[in-house]
Amino acid sequence: MLIGCPKEIKPQEFRVGLTPHAAREAVAHGHEVVVERGAGVGSGFADADYVAAGARVVDGAEEVFATAELIVKVKEPQAAERRRLREGQVLFTYLHLAPDPEQARDLMESGATCIAYETVTDARGGLPLLAPMSEVAGRLAPQVGAWTLQKANGGRGVLLGGIPGVRPARVVIVGGGVVGTAAARVAVGMGANVTVLDRSLARLSYLDDIFMGRLTTQYSSGGALAELLPTADLVIGAVLIPGAQAPKLVRRADLGTMLPGAAIVDVAIDQGGCFETSRATTHEDPIYEVDGVLHYCVANMPGAVARTSTLGLGNATLPFLLALADKGWSGALAADPHLRGGLNVHAGRIAHRAVAEALGLPL
Ligand code: NAD
Repeated sequence: MLIGCPKEIKPQEFRVGLTPHAAREAVAHGHEVVVERGAGVGSGFADADYVAAGARVVDGAEEVFATAELIVKVKEPQAAERRRLREGQVLFTYLHLAPDPEQARDLMESGATCIAYETVTDARGGLPLLAPMSEVAGRLAPQVGAWTLQKANGGRGVLLGGIPGVRPARVVIVGGGVVGTAAARVAVGMGANVTVLDRSLARLSYLDDIFMGRLTTQYSSGGALAELLPTADLVIGAVLIPGAQAPKLVRRADLGTMLPGAAIVDVAIDQGGCFETSRATTHEDPIYEVDGVLHYCVANMPGAVARTSTLGLGNATLPFLLALADKGWSGALAADPHLRGGLNVHAGRIAHRAVAEALGLPL
């Protein structure tokens, strides 16, 4: 099969859908790989790396879209890319169609078969192609929180780990899933005093087990937050209710109870955020202040570490990509109900129940 990887064109997107290692594996499976010139540069991969892996590097996206049977990307196709998709082609990428009727309409009209990373499932009910990006965002959260707390950024001037004789910062992590656990790992590693809140007792029990007393777990409630906010230096928002907007767990009035210069990192901002005062920011201008509390609400945190993110995403997508190429999309989906969960658009229709419901379209 001919696999094509165009350069991402969404602003500030530096990741790439196919790493040279993945290209090498696809070639070893007998497939042909076409990569747009410069596609990997933002993630630190040169065109020569792809050529060494056995891929063909071509100028411009046009040839990739015109020739490839299977297109692998990172972000949802932009309008110019959607116009290039055609019937019989398979697109494998993040789509996030539910809030995007315009993209849904274009994809349906293209006739392409579109498989979305974010709705591929695994045997434990997880989302294996979202998890690596949650790992990245979670591990980044204490790092950017520590930076936000620095005086030059308007923060409290508190060092997360403290020093001998000076107590460490208090970090409160709301949500102990993939993001929250990764954030806890780094915050604990930096020497902070960490409390994780969740509404899942199973999750709290798991965290209690793996951290063996190096953090505190607490059942998430309005009361617990009201107790913790007045002494917190850094609060990390990491809740998720699948398919729903993030619940607003901290109201504007609550900011008045917090320490001046305390920091909030709202990782859940891509689902609307779990602080009432959160609004999405960018890597260029990541922080703003409300009532003396600094907010960091970058919606695409993994973009800050594009190379790590590309490698992590590539590890997770590779087995599915090879299955799609080896067996063809219908064979691969028939053989794997979890990959079947990724099918969002086929033959001019929405093919995923929750996505169809969210868009108000027939299945
Ligand atoms: P997850 O499902 O692994 O974890 C979410 C956790 O939130 C679960 O353990 C759940 O029990 C808990 N939860 C639900 N309601 C709660 C409440 N009221 N109080 C406390 N905990 C509650 O999800 P995840 O992969 O960790 O993702 C978390 C959020 O981070 C999502 O919104 C995700 O989209 C977002 N995210 C953002 C970025 C970014 O760049 N900003 C990157 C990756 C993920």
